[in-house]
Amino acid sequence: MQITGVNQYHLDSPVEGDAFYPTWIPGYPQTTHELELFEIETDEGITGYGASPSFAGGLDYEDPLSLFLLGEDPHDVDGILRKLETVNLVGPRPWHIELALWDIIGKDAGKPVYELFGAERAEIPCYASTGERQPADERIPYVEQRVEEGFEAVKLRVTEVDDIETVRAVREAFPDLTLMVDANKGWAVRVMEDEVEWSFSDALEFCRGLEDVGGIAWLEEPLPRHDYDSYARLREKTDVPIAGGEFNNGRHQFREFIEHGSLDVLQPDAALATGIQRAVDVARTAQSHGLRFVPHTWTNAVGFAANLHVTTAVGGDWVEYPMEPPWTPDVWSFMLEESFEHDDGYIAAPDAPGLGITIPEEVLAAADD
Ligand SMILES: [Mg+2]
Repeated sequence: MQITGVNQYHLDSPVEGDAFYPTWIPGYPQTTHELELFEIETDEGITGYGASPSFAGGLDYEDPLSLFLLGEDPHDVDGILRKLETVNLVGPRPWHIELALWDIIGKDAGKPVYELFGAERAEIPCYASTGERQPADERIPYVEQRVEEGFEAVKLRVTEVDDIETVRAVREAFPDLTLMVDANKGWAVRVMEDEVEWSFSDALEFCRGLEDVGGIAWLEEPLPRHDYDSYARLREKTDVPIAGGEFNNGRHQFREFIEHGSLDVLQPDAALATGIQRAVDVARTAQSHGLRFVPHTWTNAVGFAANLHVTTAVGGDWVEYPMEPPWTPDVWSFMLEESFEHDDGYIAAPDAPGLGITIPEEVLAAADD
């Protein structure tokens, strides 16, 4: 099989109603959902899709990607990733494109991606993932709704050390709910404002607060994403599990996390950090070290699908389910025929071949390319 075409589509869709204020783009009112969709065509009529997040009208990589990919066999994932390492120096990460290779390989084999890695379909519990920093009086009704919908866990966003009081108020209102907390100090899109950074002692003070609150599944990214040593020091000093790695880049950075003893929960996003195959590798390595693997999924439905297949492939215990109105499954799945809807707080990967997603013709026709 040979790759015969590489097409890139810039897709966008309005976020209905109020703007969305993600903590990872400090000060920015997000009113559109933008992504780059990568379509890989082959001489056997099988087409695969991958995607990356995007903004500001998009970044065009179709020509350089064509130069590297045309004529390659999509089954040669390692060989193609080696070529795309070059692209990683100056352009998009290769992981966005790697998703499309597995979409093709699965379609060629007539199997969903998780089966290619030897797994069976499974219903996996979702945790409702927020995206905004909100005060307790807004957060509590939000959590109430999620609990009614069947979720057994919610992830809160915090910015300041004082936000521990929001976490405490939510805990007091929901004594039995599993809570995750994301500080988003690993990286930021600094287009409007700088993020609020935490010193090591800020992070430790926040952990002490979480120990007191109790029942915290993990604290995510309290420190910059490459500060492996400080993560390890923090982890030694607190009982709160520490999570991270969503936007690190490539397998070797996860080896650093493991060798330094930095994390309890590794979270490589297949669409951003590792691709599918290396996410499976990282998960299996983490599991062999007694660590947990719960990938980040917050990009778009193509990335969500990839991470859901990986989680299924490695028997992961949670799926991050982005749910922060106006950022609802309809918004993050707008490019698909069907949204990824949970069922009473659970979700299973699609069982159709490849990633198991369908992108309607009209979505492609409406794209800027
Ligand atoms: Mg995060």
